[in-house]
Amino acid sequence: MQRNLFFLYRRCRDLRTVNASRTQRDCLAEVMQGIHKRGWCDGTGGNFSVVLQHQPLQLLMAPSGVDKGQVRADQLIVVDQICNVLQGEGKASAETSLHLRIVEATQAGAVLHTHSVAGTVLSRHYEGKRGILLEGWEMLKGLVGIKTHATSINIPIISNSQSMQELGDAIAPSLKSAPCGFLVAGHGLYAWGADLEASKQHLEILEFLLKVKLTQMQIAHQS
Ligand SMILES: [Zn+2]
Repeated sequence: MQRNLFFLYRRCRDLRTVNASRTQRDCLAEVMQGIHKRGWCDGTGGNFSVVLQHQPLQLLMAPSGVDKGQVRADQLIVVDQICNVLQGEGKASAETSLHLRIVEATQAGAVLHTHSVAGTVLSRHYEGKRGILLEGWEMLKGLVGIKTHATSINIPIISNSQSMQELGDAIAPSLKSAPCGFLVAGHGLYAWGADLEASKQHLEILEFLLKVKLTQMQIAHQS
């Protein structure tokens, strides 16, 4: 009887799971490997998700605790809006609920979360100011809606916590006005966009600008 119930549960679960296409799996695995190569998610750090459907929300992502430079397309898991794993082996990362909140608030198509050196150091340094102001850089034009270098953005910073509820509540008021990204102090960067490609572009631009800021501070001390 219990065995039948188990198969019935598995069948119901499989019926409501959106199947990620080969392309979606391959693209996400490729993006994660590229980010890992750049040293932005060493160890098993960082997490990356693609929205398979918004209603009800389902994400394709890497399981918890795996090396993002090694993860294969067929190892990716599908997770629902309350962090249940609908498809694939392994557990959903603790940070999944923050990905879900970002997607719900911004209607993003993907969320990329890195642990780069620049993001980690600067977010701690500017934690008291609750944000990092970046202005006048040509690369700002890589962010959606920005057409000129003669502008500025403020990347919000929230304090770190092991409670995803706390992190989500702290960033919620700033999500809509954030420049497609925010920092968690001493931890790393979250970036998003309309789809995986746009999210990757925003991540690269924000990481570039953070590295510029860090380099600028380093040379200021030398001169
Ligand atoms: Zn993290």
